[in-house]
Amino acid sequence: MSLRYSFELFPPRDEAASRRVDAAVDAFIALEPEFVSVTFGAGGSTSRHSLTVLQRLLDGGANPMAHLTCTGLGVDETARLVRQFLDAGITRFLALRGDPPQAGVRLPTTSLQSASELVQLIQRVESERVPYAELRLPGLRASSLSERRAAVDVAVAAFPNGHPGAGVHRSDIDALLAKQAAGATMAITQLFFDPYDYARFVELARGRGVTIPIVPGVAIPTSLRRLVRSAELAGEGLPRVLADRLELASAADAVRIGVDAAVALIGALAEHDPPAVHLYTFNDHQPAIDVLRGVGALPLTTTGAP
Ligand code: FAD
Repeated sequence: MSLRYSFELFPPRDEAASRRVDAAVDAFIALEPEFVSVTFGAGGSTSRHSLTVLQRLLDGGANPMAHLTCTGLGVDETARLVRQFLDAGITRFLALRGDPPQAGVRLPTTSLQSASELVQLIQRVESERVPYAELRLPGLRASSLSERRAAVDVAVAAFPNGHPGAGVHRSDIDALLAKQAAGATMAITQLFFDPYDYARFVELARGRGVTIPIVPGVAIPTSLRRLVRSAELAGEGLPRVLADRLELASAADAVRIGVDAAVALIGALAEHDPPAVHLYTFNDHQPAIDVLRGVGALPLTTTGAP
């Protein structure tokens, strides 16, 4: 199967996690994905670690995509972060609102309220950073000023089963339209377990005027703990049959079951012609490689090793 793919990593919190991320970075660089995205802790808590992973990807020639959230950060602070990422050479972002901080956390006096505002801020910071480009004039020892073409690509989140705050009228789709109007060029979905959830969502979004590519996010549930945690984060019900199988399996069998589940989901999604798939890897590169082999996107011999 010819399939475009990308991966998600999260920044490590300790030495052991750091080694796992380094191994995943090396493996993913060798696979030449569309991009590798790196998550961002709410309120900027991981920005330094996120940037380290993004820099490693950039140095290795991969296309890094930086997640950025704006809730809980002042507008100036958010703009400074955007600038810092741009200065480091990052040109792809996943602009997110983030979840509101827990009660008791002191909030900044001004803060962006939505992902669509962050999409605009990223573009504004980039255009203020490099306001114009010089064009060489052919045959002359001269150049002229030209207006810059968009130098950043900003993706946004989409929710096949609705955002928890979206209500029955699906305000998440209006929010997605606002993000598109603000300049987002792609949407990546929250994880889901039923391929028809994706198909129905794409149909609904297209019906309301969303035209940007909507890339399905696919989790690889290689343990019951991981499945439960992913379902909680996404606000999804637990797929009972899969949960029961993972619960009874040995650790090694659970990995195989998780890979098979992701392969089956991607196989079923293929009927709905997704533009690509984005794999939530939990920083484990081997299951992600096995999934891509399982769907025929990689030769069976691929090791992913550098
Ligand atoms: P928005 O689209 O701005 O808003 C969320 C929802 O609020 C909308 O769908 C809509 O229902 C409602 N809403 C927004 N604006 C309005 C309005 N004006 N009027 C009415 N309703 C409105 N979180 C992190 O902290 N770090 C990450 O790295 C991270 N990565 C993610 C990656 C993906 C692919 C996804 C799907 C989610 C990720 N999240 C991450 C979680 C995300 O931050 C939360 O789901 C957050 O609650 C919503 O963010 P958003 O960008 O979709 O927000």
